[in-house]
Amino acid sequence: MIRHFLLAAGLLLAAPALLAQRRPTPPPVPKLLVGIMVDQMRPDYITRFRDQFGPDGFNRLLREGFECRNTQYNYIPTVTGPGHSSVYTGTTPRYHGIVGNSWYDRRLRRDVYCTDDSTVQLVGGGRGMGVSARNQLSTTLGDELKMATGGRARVLALSLKDRASALPAGHMADGAYWLDVASGNFISSTYYVPALPAWVQAFNAQKRPDYYRQQTWAPLRGPEAYRNSLPDSNRYERPFKGKAAATFPYDLAKLSPLSGPGYETVYASTYGDNLLTDFALAALQGTDLGRDDVPDLLALSYSSPDAVGHAFGPQSKEENDLYLRLDLEIARLLQALDKTVGKGNYTIFLTADHGASEVTRYLADHQAPTGAFSTEALAKGAAAYLNEQLGPDQWLETLRGNMLYLNRPLLARRKVELARAQQLLADFVRDQPGIAQVNTTTQLLNASYTTYLEAKLQNGFYYPRFGDVRYELLPGWTGDIGPGASHGTGYAYDSHVPLLWFGAGIAPGVSYAPHAITDIAPTAAMLLHSKLPSACTGQPIVEVLSPSDAAGGRHRK
Ligand code: ZN
Ligand code: ZN
Ligand code: ZN
Repeated sequence: MIRHFLLAAGLLLAAPALLAQRRPTPPPVPKLLVGIMVDQMRPDYITRFRDQFGPDGFNRLLREGFECRNTQYNYIPTVTGPGHSSVYTGTTPRYHGIVGNSWYDRRLRRDVYCTDDSTVQLVGGGRGMGVSARNQLSTTLGDELKMATGGRARVLALSLKDRASALPAGHMADGAYWLDVASGNFISSTYYVPALPAWVQAFNAQKRPDYYRQQTWAPLRGPEAYRNSLPDSNRYERPFKGKAAATFPYDLAKLSPLSGPGYETVYASTYGDNLLTDFALAALQGTDLGRDDVPDLLALSYSSPDAVGHAFGPQSKEENDLYLRLDLEIARLLQALDKTVGKGNYTIFLTADHGASEVTRYLADHQAPTGAFSTEALAKGAAAYLNEQLGPDQWLETLRGNMLYLNRPLLARRKVELARAQQLLADFVRDQPGIAQVNTTTQLLNASYTTYLEAKLQNGFYYPRFGDVRYELLPGWTGDIGPGASHGTGYAYDSHVPLLWFGAGIAPGVSYAPHAITDIAPTAAMLLHSKLPSACTGQPIVEVLSPSDAAGGRHRK
């Protein structure tokens, strides 16, 4: 009996130890999470240029970090404002409300820009409307981090674009700064700060944009580094103003005065990336980000890859060169983080706000499906068709971003049922060449879609900021068959983006499992031990998080 009793007691004593063994100690909360958005970056830029990258930039992230190779945007439209919102809110435009870079406001009868806020003023220069995250209707990762730490966490966002800074910064950030292209200064808004802090003023005083505006952009490496891209001179690029051909070298000192009175050429060339890294390093020096045990958030967004992508296209030597140079900037950033925050104390995720199409002229020249769609012709035809069906009047109010807006006051006055007018309009649009999908808002309100384009469209649907009819073009179609690239569709070239994780709490690995862009915020929230953003619809990526017992399994490289 006694023996049995002792045995049982021993088992009881051993039980907590057994339990503890089954559950590995969770990794410590990182002191700093750095979110890096590369505007318009596609995942094939990693595979195409990887053997030309150095060891300390992208290759370090890939070697020591976790790669989610099948990460996609799960809504339409794939543009900058919604992209940045969705990453940091973990939800889609349907719930965060950023349905485009701008949208048509029926009440005001004009366009509203996604970060417009007339109740605040710009700080440190710049002209125009104040900037804030007020139009973003759900909390962000940074907001939640603030609330999880009694406001002690520091949240900071930096970019060249205002929307790529304000939307990630969220509603409670300590600062959001972006480039005023006219003056070359980084500026902010009274929504965040009453005046530029000393470290931003000191950075602006260095006049780094002046230095970059004097550079000549020439290829970084020899010809072998560009073998996966087209020859420099081709008919798929839009050259800088004042240069007949889109070919290296680009003498910015000569070209800058032709492009505008400000720092347009710095923004639109590879040097915009250098400028943002300089500014990020100044932030690490000038603030106490990542210095104590309270986790902080630094949101960085590189904007120049988008400008270069639009002008030269994904297959250009210029784009190739921009990524070889961005690789060096990533290395410089990692080195600075190692020094200021310390190896193993910070975590990084790197992704993009959308992908990019191939150049339509290239597709046409190579027998790939493409086409030119005229929105002007569509608006004209739709107006004429409604006149035919309902009698002559101004039935169509406007057309914006693949959405047609009916003149609702007129419909009410003339007692035409809204759903009927929408259906008439949708039937007309559906018959036009190049159309893949058409939905009325009545349909979107009353049905729940699960298939590809329809579901993505519904995830991008927020009624108060939406038109009456929304259409999507066929894959490869856009406004014209010309040079340069664009984005915005629900197709793979626009929706498939890179997603890399690196640092504290992240073991090396790769996953091919499907993940939505909205999964980033919940994954980061788990890492940071903070609450999910208020309207989060994503799911944490378990492969990234779990050290050994992830349900989804871990595939080691
Ligand atoms: Zn973008
Ligand atoms: Zn070129
Ligand atoms: Zn763009």
